[in-house]
Amino acid sequence: AIPAGSSVAVRAAASGGWQQVTCAGRNGYVSTMFVTATTDPGGSNPGAGQSGTARVANTSGDGLRCRTAAPSGLVITIIAEGASITTRGASSNGWTPVVCGGRDGFMSSQFLTAGSGTGAPDPNPIPAPGGSGMGNGDRGKVSVRANMRYQASMGAQVMIVVERGEVLQITGNATNGFYPVNYDGLRAFMSVDLLTETSEPLSKRSGGGSGVSVGVGAVLGSLTPRISQPFGQTAFSMGAGSWMYGYAAGLGVPLAHPGIDYSMPYGTRLYIPVSGTVVYAGGTGWFRDSRGDGAGRGELRIRTDNGHEIIFGHMSWIPLLPGQRVVAGELAGLSGSFNGDHLHLEVRVPGNTSSGWQAIDPSRYFAGATSAYRNQLTGV
Ligand SMILES: [Zn+2]
Repeated sequence: AIPAGSSVAVRAAASGGWQQVTCAGRNGYVSTMFVTATTDPGGSNPGAGQSGTARVANTSGDGLRCRTAAPSGLVITIIAEGASITTRGASSNGWTPVVCGGRDGFMSSQFLTAGSGTGAPDPNPIPAPGGSGMGNGDRGKVSVRANMRYQASMGAQVMIVVERGEVLQITGNATNGFYPVNYDGLRAFMSVDLLTETSEPLSKRSGGGSGVSVGVGAVLGSLTPRISQPFGQTAFSMGAGSWMYGYAAGLGVPLAHPGIDYSMPYGTRLYIPVSGTVVYAGGTGWFRDSRGDGAGRGELRIRTDNGHEIIFGHMSWIPLLPGQRVVAGELAGLSGSFNGDHLHLEVRVPGNTSSGWQAIDPSRYFAGATSAYRNQLTGV
C-alpha cells in the first residue's frame, strides 16, 4: 500500500481506470480514483530537475538504451523513439538517471529532450518492459525463481520452474512481454521482467552437482546416489517394513519393495527422466514426505507417452500440476524424507495383476531406455 499523500512516478497513460506507475522499484498499477496529477517538481528539463519526464528523440527510430550504469552497464531495456521516461535527477557527464523497465537506470542525455512540461504522461506510450532490449544470442539471468511457459502468455502452462541466478539463452525478440528462451536444450518462454542481460556462462540444468537425474542408466551425471533399499524382496520389505508394502502384491511383486530407494540429502533437485503427463503432484496421501503433505508435496506420478507410470515418492516440493505436460530433463522437484531422507522411485507398466499394473525394477527399466529417450534426456 502506498500512503496517502505520497507521490508515485507515472509510467504511461491511464487506461480502464488504472494508472501505470512505478512503486517499490517495480512496475505496478493503481486505481485512477485515488491518484491526482501533481506539478512536476523538477520542471521539464531532464538535465536540471530532481525528477520529471523526458522524451527519447533523434535516435533515427532506433530507440535509446537504458543501462544499469553509465556508460557501459548492461542494457535493461530500449526505450522507443518518442516515448517518455521518468527521470530521477539531474544529468551528469552526459547521462541522465531514469526509471526504465521498473528499475533505476541511466540513459544518454544527448537523446533526451524535455517532456511535455505538464508532467502529464505520454498520450501514446510504447510499452518498454524490463529487459526487452535483448535479442537472439543474448543471455538472460533469472532474477527470481521463475516459470518457463510453453507459450508467450501468462496463461500458458508452466514447463519448468527455473531457480534464481540461472542463465538462459535468449533466442529471439520479446513478444507479448515474453522472450523465447533456451534453457540447456529446453525451449520455452519467460517474462521479460524476470530476466536481466548478463555475460555469465549459460547454465546447465543438471550442472552444479546438486541435482540427480534419477535412475536413468548412464545419465546419472557425476552423482551416483547410494541405493538404500533395492527393488524386490528385502529383509525390510518382508519384515519390519512389510506393513508399508501391502500394495506390492497388487503390482505383481508380493512381499517386495516395489521400487528403488536412493539415499540423498533432503531437498536434492530431481529431474524428469522420460517425457509424459503429470498424473499426481502431491496430496494423495501416498508416498508422503514425513515433514508434510499436501498439494505440491509427496507423490509425483508421471504417465509416459507409451502408457507407463513413474512415481517419485516422498517429494518435499513438486513445481508441477496434474495434467501438465513434462519433458525429459526438466525439474521434477526436490526430494524429501520418509523413514530417512531418500527418493522412492517406482515404475509400473500395464500387467496381468489385480491392479492391472506390474511393478518393474527401475534400474532395468531405465537401462533399457530407447535411444529416443536418450536423445530426449540430452535435451536435443
Ligand atoms: Zn521405497
